[in-house]
Amino acid sequence: MADLETRPLQTIPGPAFNEDSPQPISTTRTCADDQDLEDGPLFRATIKQLENKTSALKASTKRILKTAVASVEAQQALMDADTNFLDALRDIPSATPPLTEYMDRTWAILYEQRLRLQQSMRDIILDPLQKRYDYEIKTAEYKRRRFEEASKDYYSYLAKYLSIKPETLSKDKKRTEREQKHIARQSAFDLIRFDYYNFLVDLHGGKKEQEMLFNLVRNQQEESSFYQFISSGVIPHKEALDNVATLMEEAAREQDTFYKERSEKRRTMLTRHNQHVKDMLKTEYIKEQAQLKRTSLRTSANVSDVEENPISTDPGLPEPSQSAGSAENRFKGIHDLENQDRNMLWACGRRKEGVLFSTSKPSKGTAFEKGSNVTWHKYWCVLSGGQLHEYSNWKRHVESHIDPIPLRYATVRQACNADRQFCFEIITPYFRRMYQAISQEEMMSWMATIRNAIESLLNGTGSSVNLIKDHLIKEEETNNDQSPKKGHSRSLSKAIRRGLAERSRWSGFSFTSNSNGSAGHGHIAKNSGAVGQYEFSPSPDATVNTKLLTTLREDRSNVLCADCGERNPEWCSLNLGILLCIECSGIHRSLGTHISKVRSLTLDSASYTPDIVELLRSIGNARSNAVWDPKRCLTTNDDDCLTTDEVDELRRPVPGDTRDFKLKYIQQKYVEKAFVYHTHKDLNTLLFDAIDNDDIPAALYAVALGIDLNRSWPFTSARSSSSDEDGSQNSRNSQDSIPLPTIVLSSGNNLCATNTTGRDKIDDPTVRYPLHYALLYGRRTLPSVMTDRNRLFPMAEFLLQNGADAGIIDPETGNTLASIVGLGSIVEDDAIAYLNLKNAARGQPQIFRASMPIIPSHSFIDATYK
Ligand SMILES: [Zn+2]
Repeated sequence: MADLETRPLQTIPGPAFNEDSPQPISTTRTCADDQDLEDGPLFRATIKQLENKTSALKASTKRILKTAVASVEAQQALMDADTNFLDALRDIPSATPPLTEYMDRTWAILYEQRLRLQQSMRDIILDPLQKRYDYEIKTAEYKRRRFEEASKDYYSYLAKYLSIKPETLSKDKKRTEREQKHIARQSAFDLIRFDYYNFLVDLHGGKKEQEMLFNLVRNQQEESSFYQFISSGVIPHKEALDNVATLMEEAAREQDTFYKERSEKRRTMLTRHNQHVKDMLKTEYIKEQAQLKRTSLRTSANVSDVEENPISTDPGLPEPSQSAGSAENRFKGIHDLENQDRNMLWACGRRKEGVLFSTSKPSKGTAFEKGSNVTWHKYWCVLSGGQLHEYSNWKRHVESHIDPIPLRYATVRQACNADRQFCFEIITPYFRRMYQAISQEEMMSWMATIRNAIESLLNGTGSSVNLIKDHLIKEEETNNDQSPKKGHSRSLSKAIRRGLAERSRWSGFSFTSNSNGSAGHGHIAKNSGAVGQYEFSPSPDATVNTKLLTTLREDRSNVLCADCGERNPEWCSLNLGILLCIECSGIHRSLGTHISKVRSLTLDSASYTPDIVELLRSIGNARSNAVWDPKRCLTTNDDDCLTTDEVDELRRPVPGDTRDFKLKYIQQKYVEKAFVYHTHKDLNTLLFDAIDNDDIPAALYAVALGIDLNRSWPFTSARSSSSDEDGSQNSRNSQDSIPLPTIVLSSGNNLCATNTTGRDKIDDPTVRYPLHYALLYGRRTLPSVMTDRNRLFPMAEFLLQNGADAGIIDPETGNTLASIVGLGSIVEDDAIAYLNLKNAARGQPQIFRASMPIIPSHSFIDATYK
């Protein structure tokens, strides 16, 4: 059955085709029935019209091809140019964030899609069009010529054929031959005409026209999908780009602040300079006037009394210095010098550095060589560890100029008979050396600091910031003869490096509000405060560091890094009270000191006063994490019900994680405070209760919740308002009635015996700031910690490290910390000793009991004044 059905299908086309082919020449006209193709005026007009269309098509196609090629080439050029632009951008380091965050990710997509679009333009538009132009439009020209030739041939043949006389065609055979020939010619011409006509019709419209339209639509579809691809490839990265933009905005704002501060500083400097110039001109004018008056007095004898009077009242006659702006700073006598000295002793510690001028060598004799052959050079001088070091060429590299001058048996005095100003000399048993300071103030400051250093050498008191070191070693003052030069140079370069790092950080984007409140003390305080805790400490001692580490690791949580869990962390954050591994410490440092103050436990041993050690012991990694990230413990193991993405989102860093992962976590934890457990408790109450209970982790919690440590306790409310049980008494003990906030961490650590006698002292209405309050409570020192004091002040230390301002003035009472401390019995001697230790490190004045003037702005102050 199947065979029967399939067979006819195969055979049917065969005979049909074979029947047509053996008779190409028909005896009758083939196209006579087709009126349109008759070679008449209509046909010729149609052909003409079509030919005109063809030449128009030729011109337009040529133009389309030319412009399309130009467009493709321009696109290629654009892509090349963009690639070059991107490569050029890579050379600029500041362009990295947008490159890595956005362009590197989107550029590949964009490039690929552009390439695809370009290819489709070639495939769909350009190539078919070119083919059409080459094979069809040009062929039309050829076909037209062929048709015209054929037409000419045919009609000349026809004329010849028709001119033959009928009688010549007598023979039948001959006549038939001619006739057959005629029909063949005629049909050949018909065929040519037919082909040419149809060729032209096809060229314009019909299938070809549709093909062109079809390609155009396809190309537009490609282009539309190009934009779709681009947007779906680019949109996911927009967030990263927006983040970069936000960061840029923040950076710009910070930079603005920096420029504003700088221009403010410049304005101050300019005002000072203008004042100096004005003073100078005024002095010169007065001098000139006096000179004029004197000569006029001498020359003319008949000057009236009236004219003389102004001279006698003129204050600045022979004394230009009196009217000069710096008159009060001028050296006036030995009494003045002593007064200034006392002030200087407060302001200066025992170390100082700065520029001094001197001759190249100290003089051996007792008299200083005067004369013009002496050349003065500029040296960077560092007074530290009881020695004065000189460095030359310090602008390029540090180079010790002469052996350090030991000050133990030296004296310092002003060089009154020097032929230069601001000179002082250091006289040792072996030689004397004259120095020139750059100003009177600098000279006084140097002399005071040197005197201070000499005094401490003679009294046997070492550097105040090295207390713990001194006591742990239980040795005398470090012997300066133990290769001091080497150790010193090393620590100097370290200091310079640190200083440079500090400076570059400050010139970039950084917070400026974390200064230690010593702004009023100018560069002296800044010198000893900013880097004072680091440099010029004698070479690190293994015993001290091991002991410090051992002490801190009594808290077992301190054996692992607080943020990533790395073993044996050797760095710490002073204000957060945690131990960190080296990588996390670097991340902490990058956050800025207003977030974390990073120190090395093995290298920066000078930073660790007993109060700081006590502070570190009071917090530690476990308690800190309970504040900053209470959920940390939960998410490490119990993650069965979580997807891997969720675990990645929630999990905390481990030692092997990338720096980026750790950075993100640490920023979330300490900067964004994202994991801190929130409470509805009043933050002030929380903090004052923490101080009351000597509970530093609870104070840390208040800090984590964003308390302002420089906000005072409300004067009349809260502490005295809810005293219902006490009847009408205005007792401030009513604070007990405020419930303690329930915190997620275990408050009230029992590391040390806490002082419980402080509670009644809050009665004093002058004590309104957290730091002041904290100073009322000392913590008894452990027998293992050797210090001069019976009490340590880790809570006060904690507040200071976290931005409490020691110089704050109570706007309501006018009291300062110094005035409260100095008042009498409120604060113990140990607190004063502690404060003075801090003040010495910062180059601020020392505080003495009842030594400060009190501003009696409120009557109750009288009651506390003793
Ligand atoms: Zn770590």
